[in-house]
Amino acid sequence: MTITDRYSVTSSAESTRQDSDIARRVPFPLRTDEVIREAILGAIRVVLSDRPDFRVEWESLSITPIDGKPGTGRCAVCNCWVYDVENVTSLTPTMINRGAIVNEQYLCDEHLPEDHPVAF
Ligand SMILES: [Zn+2]
Repeated sequence: MTITDRYSVTSSAESTRQDSDIARRVPFPLRTDEVIREAILGAIRVVLSDRPDFRVEWESLSITPIDGKPGTGRCAVCNCWVYDVENVTSLTPTMINRGAIVNEQYLCDEHLPEDHPVAF
């Protein structure tokens, strides 16, 4: 049996003007991709350590900038990135948490009102 699992990790950092200058000069992808890949594979292998019959292999890594994309924002309760399922465009990254806008605030599916159609 072979299965494909997809994991989504969001990372962010406060950027400074100096960071932006460095980012323009450093070729992409960075060595960080390999570090991230090894860390994720290692964590999954630990979780599956009681299943020696499972073999874990890396398939792909994709990086999608979220800042400024239409229909995205941070949950007003837990601050996680969400996309508004009611206003998705072709440019909206949909591999992040589902959510919606309620009272002009983004809320993730876990913090939406229970009667909201997207509530978890
Ligand atoms: Zn939330």
